[in-house]
Amino acid sequence: MSNLVAIVGRPNVGKSTLFNRLTKSRRAIVTEEAGTTRDRQYGKVEWNGREFSLIDTGGWVQTSTDVFEEEIKRQVLIAMEEADLLLFMVDILSGITDLDMEIANMLRRVSKPLILVSNKADNFELNPQAAEFYKFGLGEPFVISAVNGTGTGDLLDEIMSQL
Ligand code: GDP
Ligand code: MG
Repeated sequence: MSNLVAIVGRPNVGKSTLFNRLTKSRRAIVTEEAGTTRDRQYGKVEWNGREFSLIDTGGWVQTSTDVFEEEIKRQVLIAMEEADLLLFMVDILSGITDLDMEIANMLRRVSKPLILVSNKADNFELNPQAAEFYKFGLGEPFVISAVNGTGTGDLLDEIMSQL
């Protein structure tokens, strides 16, 4: 399928929250506990008369084991294969973690369009902290709040311009 957009990133950064907002569904499980989205979720997003398919990655169940990290990386590799555009989501409140850096190292090798999404910027005072994410070498961080919707319209415009 063309126009396939995948959200990748470590657990708890807000991937499912964004998926649910953009697809206007409640299908992806959002939880306070890291690592509880059990399956890959596919949804449709409509924006300005156009449409794309969105994948919420996160087919993992366990936390704090090596298997868990391997599963995350496996999901990233699948997304790198099948998606036309990747959204790499990170968390502005926690900053960069080792796992973020490992995923970034994988994504730097992808030749597909990628948007770095800095989530959880619920108020503008947090925005300057996104500068840290330039360290990934994946371009300019796109600052959003999946919870309150700040920046998500601009993100959709950007996605459409890259598809
Ligand atoms: P996932 O594991 O990446 O799919 O993350 P989830 O969507 O399940 O969200 C993990 C936690 O982060 C939940 O408690 C969400 O409510 C919270 N969260 C998601 N987006 C935001 C946001 O924009 N701001 C804040 N403050 N919390 C968020
Ligand atoms: Mg999830």
